[in-house]
Amino acid sequence: MNFFAWMDIILFFVLFVLFVYVFVSVTITSLHKIYLTFHFSMMLWPICQFAIKMVDAPNVQLIYLKLSFVDTCLLAVGWLLFTIFLTGQSRFLKTKISLLLYVPALLAATCVIMNPNGKFVLPLQGSYIHRYYGPLFWCIITILIGYIIVSLSIMSRVLLSDKAPRIKTQVKQVLKGIIVMTLFILLDVILNVVLYSFLPVITGLTSFGVLLSAIFFVIAIHRDKVFDIVNIAHQDIIDTIDYGILVLDDNDIVVEINRSLLPHLDLTIGFRFDIANILTKGQSSSHIDSFLQTYLNYPMERSAIEMKFADGRHINMQTAPITVNRTRVGRIITFQDVSELHRLMEATNLQNEILQERNRSLINIQNELSQTNQKLEHMAITDALTGIYNRLYLTQKLEYEVLHHIKYQMPFALILLDIDYFKLINDNYGHLVGDQMIQSTVEVIKQSLRPTDIFARFGGEEFIIYLPQTSPSQAKFLAERIKSTVESNKLIAKKIPYSLSITISIGLLSITNFTLEHSKNPSTYLTDLLEAVDKALYMAKDEGRNRIVSIAR
Ligand code: GH3
Ligand code: MG
Ligand code: MG
Repeated sequence: MNFFAWMDIILFFVLFVLFVYVFVSVTITSLHKIYLTFHFSMMLWPICQFAIKMVDAPNVQLIYLKLSFVDTCLLAVGWLLFTIFLTGQSRFLKTKISLLLYVPALLAATCVIMNPNGKFVLPLQGSYIHRYYGPLFWCIITILIGYIIVSLSIMSRVLLSDKAPRIKTQVKQVLKGIIVMTLFILLDVILNVVLYSFLPVITGLTSFGVLLSAIFFVIAIHRDKVFDIVNIAHQDIIDTIDYGILVLDDNDIVVEINRSLLPHLDLTIGFRFDIANILTKGQSSSHIDSFLQTYLNYPMERSAIEMKFADGRHINMQTAPITVNRTRVGRIITFQDVSELHRLMEATNLQNEILQERNRSLINIQNELSQTNQKLEHMAITDALTGIYNRLYLTQKLEYEVLHHIKYQMPFALILLDIDYFKLINDNYGHLVGDQMIQSTVEVIKQSLRPTDIFARFGGEEFIIYLPQTSPSQAKFLAERIKSTVESNKLIAKKIPYSLSITISIGLLSITNFTLEHSKNPSTYLTDLLEAVDKALYMAKDEGRNRIVSIAR
């Protein structure tokens, strides 16, 4: 034969290679690819059988015969792979050991192709239409049966396992296909090979088996949606999601309940769903009535409600219409358990309250501390017996005030006074009466003072008064007023039948002259001033008491 005689077959192979290329590179699932290969292999058997009978040349008949048996080897491996994929064990095929699966089939195919010394097949009467199968044929048949047994055992294991019902249905369907095909192949071998000499040849048995099993596949693909992976994925998601999902038709008949919801609702597919019944079993913080009104009267609207049930669970229910071309065909209701969220919220609220409580007590402590502090500050600058300022406060205050007066050249005055013969009061009437006398004297002096004057206990029954912005004459006037008020003050003490009164001696210092020298060292200047006023008081005592000695600086 010349080149042109081979032309058609060469073109066929080119087309075949292109087909294989597209088939391998296109993005369909492995399950699709395996099935299509498998189906292609199934188609080859009958066409080869037909071709053997159509040609006369024995060597061409042998090519077709070998092709059909190589194809059978492929078919056996295909079965096994399909089984493995279908039962969800495709991960196994990624292991190296899985390569061993192909070895027996390759061996069988090699035997077919080599046909050593006609040990596989020999022609009868010079033609392969009638043929004699040798021992290798039986080896090959054994290998093929081996593949089928392995496939069958994998499938039956799945059927006995707790795999999803959907997988089991598919496996059952495919199992029927494999059994039918195996039966027909065995029948073919027994009738047409083993009993060849006794019975007339029945053609097409294996092809018929192949057709029947293909029919089972087509049924599995269409009815059980073996390849409908998007729907399968949706169903898987619906079944594994921890939301409860309820699908109703437009008459509120339950069409679907997912697995999460099934144990919680006393409902069966095909029965009517009564929302009011569920609502009576729980409580809701929102308005059940308005939810029910929307649910019943406005089914095209989405609505939601949160319910608390007797077992303490909080469930969020949401309803939404299912529409086709803007017509409502049903309703989907989801149930979400939000109890955990509630627990967290309650725990957070509790923590918040504890924190607020702590905050409040901290603020209280802070207030108490600041009050104590104020008291301490007050105590530090006041005299306990009389409540007027103490010596410490006055000297500190004066250091600043003196500077201020020097700066603005403002006159001021200091009064130092001491009660006359006070020891006698103590001695005659006791210390308590002495104390009362001191307090009473302080009270009357206070009344003689101006708001800006600062009055302090200097020690014992000696007091100092600072008169800011006061001229010598004003100071004298004030000193006189103080002296006479004290003199006319009468103390009525318990158990003493008459009133007591005292006099005071006053040293008065008026300051009108200022030099800048004074401001350089205010505390020395102040000591000078205090010494001067003390001297004036001493003089008043010395001159006979109950008088004012006034000096100026
Ligand atoms: P004079 O000042 O006129 O010289 O005579 P005096 O008797 O008042 O003498 P002096 O001022 O030295 O005496 C102060 C007395 O005041 C001594 C002390 O017992 C008494 N004294 C000082 N502080 C207190 C006090 O807080 N309460 C009482 N009851 N007596 C006090
Ligand atoms: Mg005195
Ligand atoms: Mg004194």
